[in-house]
Amino acid sequence: MALVVQKYGGTSVANMDRIQNVARRVIKTKQAGHDVIVVLSAMAGETDRLINLAQQAAAEPDLREYDALIATGEQVTVSLMALVLNGLGCKARSYLGFQIRITTDRAYQKARIVNVDTWKIQEELKRGSVLVVAGFQGVDEENNITTLGRGGSDTSAVALAAAMRADICEIYTDVDGVYTTDPHLYDKARRLDRVSYDEMLEMARAGAKVLQPRAVEMAKKYEVPIYVKSSFSDEGGTLVTKEDKEMEKEVVSGVTYDRDQAKVTVINVPDRPGIAARLFTPLAEHNIMVDMIIQNASVDGFTDLTFTVSRKDVKQAAVLVREAADDIGAARVEIDDSVAKVSIIGVGMVSHSGVAAKMFATLAKEGINIEMISTSEIKISCVVKAKYTELAVMVLHDAFELGK
Ligand code: ASP
Ligand code: MG
Repeated sequence: MALVVQKYGGTSVANMDRIQNVARRVIKTKQAGHDVIVVLSAMAGETDRLINLAQQAAAEPDLREYDALIATGEQVTVSLMALVLNGLGCKARSYLGFQIRITTDRAYQKARIVNVDTWKIQEELKRGSVLVVAGFQGVDEENNITTLGRGGSDTSAVALAAAMRADICEIYTDVDGVYTTDPHLYDKARRLDRVSYDEMLEMARAGAKVLQPRAVEMAKKYEVPIYVKSSFSDEGGTLVTKEDKEMEKEVVSGVTYDRDQAKVTVINVPDRPGIAARLFTPLAEHNIMVDMIIQNASVDGFTDLTFTVSRKDVKQAAVLVREAADDIGAARVEIDDSVAKVSIIGVGMVSHSGVAAKMFATLAKEGINIEMISTSEIKISCVVKAKYTELAVMVLHDAFELGK
């Protein structure tokens, strides 16, 4: 007998038929003798709809009210699921974040989980009930409802799995696993049987939408095995787990892209200590995540500094950076939101040379200009014009023979 956490995404609970389908899966797991905690997203499109309402209600919605509103989608699916499960003779109870007590900090829209109370869960499991927990939401110390960022119910699931020391965290979605690249973009994409936490983390950060990056970070930290599966079939699946020798044999295991990138360039920055801190501190204070950063060598005491942020943050980032740029005497700030990031990822890169050169040559052959480059041990990312995204992904996928 195991403790299984199953998370179902929005498409898996998009209507009553699909909710019934999920309920049958849950019951099957229960009947196999396991304890089950189900974590749900809102119905597909619902969170977007709520966000749209918030924007109609106020030009700049108060973040506390915004989170209270967009957290409601999950309340609908968990209560429906509990009703359906009970109707099918399976004891189940729904729980919202505050009822479990999933405590977060107060960074509305992107709150971090700081604690998960387990006694309520244990009590329910002892009674033989299935817990159906609302993903994506928590509560801060002062009982304000918070949300964990788009795709945050993955993180809810992993956090529950970690807190309960579950045997496995199954993430059910509309694809049957993790692919070498987005199969919607390139039909030569191949499903991976296994992928390491680090690769998955880089893939998620670099734009692969299967798992929220924070969920993978947490899974790695607490060594929670994640199994990504389709809720529509029993085939396939990808296990996200600790890295091993087998995995290192492949140089590159995936190509990802991220169109949610905007480039900010600060031109003619006086090159002296404290400048970068002055530019980036206000962004951090406003919880704006900076992705790539490049600073040029200085010429005559001046340098250019370029970085990327999510497109939704670029307006606010521009205001903050322009303020800082004025302060430090930089010439001007330029914004380009027609860029995308394309990355290759693989734990095998550590022990193979020439990977970067091959990537650059592959892009060059297609006449794709590289605007920024960044690397980590297991990832190389290039910022290119957004219109080249598909082409870049396909030629890189071919060059590294990922379809084989
Ligand atoms: N419903 C939330 C969203 O659409 C959370 C999730 O689906 O994971 O982002
Ligand atoms: Mg999702």
